[in-house]
Amino acid sequence: MNPLPEGWRPRRVLAVGAHPDDIEFGCGATLTRWAASGTEVVLLILTDGSKGTWEREIDLAGLVEQRRAEQRSAAATLGAAGVEFLDLVDGELEAGRGERAAVCEVIRRVQPDTVLGHDPWKRYRLHPDHRRAGELVVDAVVAARDPQFFPERGPAFRPERLLLFEAEDPDHIEDAGPGFDAKVAALLCHRSQWRSTLGIEAGTPPEAAQRNALVDRLRAEATTAADGHGFDLAEGFKRLEPL
Ligand SMILES: [Zn+2]
Repeated sequence: MNPLPEGWRPRRVLAVGAHPDDIEFGCGATLTRWAASGTEVVLLILTDGSKGTWEREIDLAGLVEQRRAEQRSAAATLGAAGVEFLDLVDGELEAGRGERAAVCEVIRRVQPDTVLGHDPWKRYRLHPDHRRAGELVVDAVVAARDPQFFPERGPAFRPERLLLFEAEDPDHIEDAGPGFDAKVAALLCHRSQWRSTLGIEAGTPPEAAQRNALVDRLRAEATTAADGHGFDLAEGFKRLEPL
């Protein structure tokens, strides 16, 4: 694998996440920094987020709508050019033929030089959607590049590289310092997830302390990722290139 030149950034990126908020956690600071430098950033959310609540009695269609709106705000906070939704059922994601064709079509249409997604080889990953989303992005890249796969889904397009976030074995490090605050702000756009994922009880007295705890946790992760790489804060990836 060839080293990337100093100061490299992609021209156009497609970041693929299982749920609204996954991309922000995995690579939000990196996408912000790239977008600010002129990279066109497009997000693809695979599922509808309909399991993302601890409430038993809830209007699920309303939750899905809310999560789309939250994801749009988060995308704008990162400086993304757009966000697309495949609307597959949350918690029931499959990496089957139909799903692969749908992601392949998005890759062929958006034509990103760099694709980002969950690392399917990360060990002991609990959530099935995160495992399947990783498989799906890898399989869809292979399909997108070769014209004999899904010829009805547009002309073949070969991205240059795949960067896997939450990587089991990171070998590509990006500076997360300039985009760190935007990453936090984008995560906080996911108001429906404050309680279940972000650990914040809105409106209760310790809300500020809980927000600070979230920032501390994200900062600690980014500090660990940066260790030995010359940055204060970083996001780490596994890079697959050429594809
Ligand atoms: Zn998720």
